[in-house]
Amino acid sequence: MDGEDFLSDLQSLVIHGDYDASEGADETALAPAIYPASTYSARSLDEFARMANQPRHPRYYARYGNPTQERCERLLARLEGMEAALLTASGMGAMSTTLFAQVRAGDHVVAQTTHYMGTAQILTDLLPGLGVEVTRVDQRDTDAFFAATRENTRLIVVETPSNPTLALTDLAAIASFAKRRGITTLADNTFASPVNQRPRDFGIDLVLHSATKYLGGHSDLIAGVVCGEASAVERIWERAIMLGTNVSPFNAFLLLRGLRTLPMRVARQNENALALARFFETHPAVARVHYPELESHPQHALAKRQMRRGGGVLSIELKGGDSDEQGFHAARIFVAALKMARHAVSLGGVETLVVHAASMWEASLTPEQMRQAGISPSLVRIAAGLENAADLCADMTQALSAQALPGNGDR
Ligand SMILES: *Cc1c(COP(=O)(O)O)cnc(C)c1O
Repeated sequence: MDGEDFLSDLQSLVIHGDYDASEGADETALAPAIYPASTYSARSLDEFARMANQPRHPRYYARYGNPTQERCERLLARLEGMEAALLTASGMGAMSTTLFAQVRAGDHVVAQTTHYMGTAQILTDLLPGLGVEVTRVDQRDTDAFFAATRENTRLIVVETPSNPTLALTDLAAIASFAKRRGITTLADNTFASPVNQRPRDFGIDLVLHSATKYLGGHSDLIAGVVCGEASAVERIWERAIMLGTNVSPFNAFLLLRGLRTLPMRVARQNENALALARFFETHPAVARVHYPELESHPQHALAKRQMRRGGGVLSIELKGGDSDEQGFHAARIFVAALKMARHAVSLGGVETLVVHAASMWEASLTPEQMRQAGISPSLVRIAAGLENAADLCADMTQALSAQALPGNGDR
């Protein structure tokens, strides 16, 4: 981890990296235009033929792309150190479209036991029904990825850090193994953001984000992105225009606006998450803290190799007595007592958000699956926002002391 000057190399890029003066674009307007047009007229038959036949033409029909989207994609590709990017309607749009472009019946995919819920559902509910076999392995066990690959393995899907215990996947080891075997690698980089981790630097082929989270950063848009070599991204785009997973022009505009402050925001979120992690580590009501930048994280050495900083998300387990029921109860009292941190799903926005994992996944995971995913009854995920760290710690302090109040029932 090299926290020192990671702002400096990215902050100029996010301000200027979406346009290219050498291409002769008129960039006198400092904010990009939004094109609500669903279709674009041609001035000649020849021009129409070009519009219709050139892949990813930004001025043809809006499901195929639009100029604001194109600018935003250029910046996102540069942020991830990739040739090209494709914006989609959501993170799940990016994941589903990418999977449909990469695999077909008869193929085999290796993925993690712990993935974002929607990704896990595609892997277990959707792909097998289409004749694609999926093997899921513990992401902390690098050898398990190798052991799971077969003759027909086409794709390895990884996500690091993953939700909600911030377990890591060794990007360099998996990418180099996959390269030797001719297997494509896809990394969901949502939790780290390109500020803290660039999977391309470790040899990963395709990098995906829920742009709803850190990239957008203001809890006001849904979008996704996948980055890679231009030819690979063009193949995914061919699926996107079939599936209709295109981003809206307005959301492309909002995302570009959010990206201008990405390095500054993430730097602050890194600081706040570390401050919270250190605060919880010494608090008597907290049993465990999960955060990659803490020396106590079981994969701290790997975190130092592949992440610049620990990121904005951490999770804690509370001391709530001995039984699962008491732990569940303690977490609910804590969440209900928070005054500044908001109780909501998602992450990466300017405001600190908190979720009680066991309540969130009660309906969709069996107790055994919860245990497998490391979700103990008292586990609370915290996504740090941009507030003053001292204010956040004060809020956590008063909420943790709510435990001790007599008569505090389930609220
Ligand atoms: C939120 C999220 C997604 C899904 O993104 P949407 O924009 O909600 O569709 C995928 N992966 C991770 C890690 C996420 O946090």
